[in-house]
Amino acid sequence: MLLHSISLPPGEYGGDAIERLFTNRLDWDEHPYYQQIRGLQVSSHFVLRRDGELLQFVSCDQRAWHAGRSQWLGRDNCNDFSVGIELEGLEGETFEEAQYLVLPRLLQAIAGQYPVRHIAGHEHVAPGRKIDPGPGFDWPRLQASLGWPASMFPAVA
Ligand SMILES: [Zn+2]
Repeated sequence: MLLHSISLPPGEYGGDAIERLFTNRLDWDEHPYYQQIRGLQVSSHFVLRRDGELLQFVSCDQRAWHAGRSQWLGRDNCNDFSVGIELEGLEGETFEEAQYLVLPRLLQAIAGQYPVRHIAGHEHVAPGRKIDPGPGFDWPRLQASLGWPASMFPAVA
């Protein structure tokens, strides 16, 4: 499973721009920042908002386009074998209590249906290109709340 952070525009929370991006309904002229991502076609399986609300955009049985050029343990293109979870947030900023409460429940639910081997960040599969979810994400806390081995978390082990 691959954790990300996203906010649109960056650092602004609570709007519906993420949903509109992931459903190809974002108006690129609505904000100057969107010129930088104009035409971007991405999706993710889940978005976990800062208030703990969980949205699903793609079935875990289907591929979503969240990882881009990426590699994990010698395998290219993580979109082919990972579930993407976007935490509403910004690289370098911290995340909310509600997100730390809901995220383990989501991961447990996914692990109940699919063989989960690792929980990594986008920054781990695309180093030098991506920095999310960033140093503000508390990996040891996530590991502790799940009780899963540290070896499953490259940011912890
Ligand atoms: Zn990402």
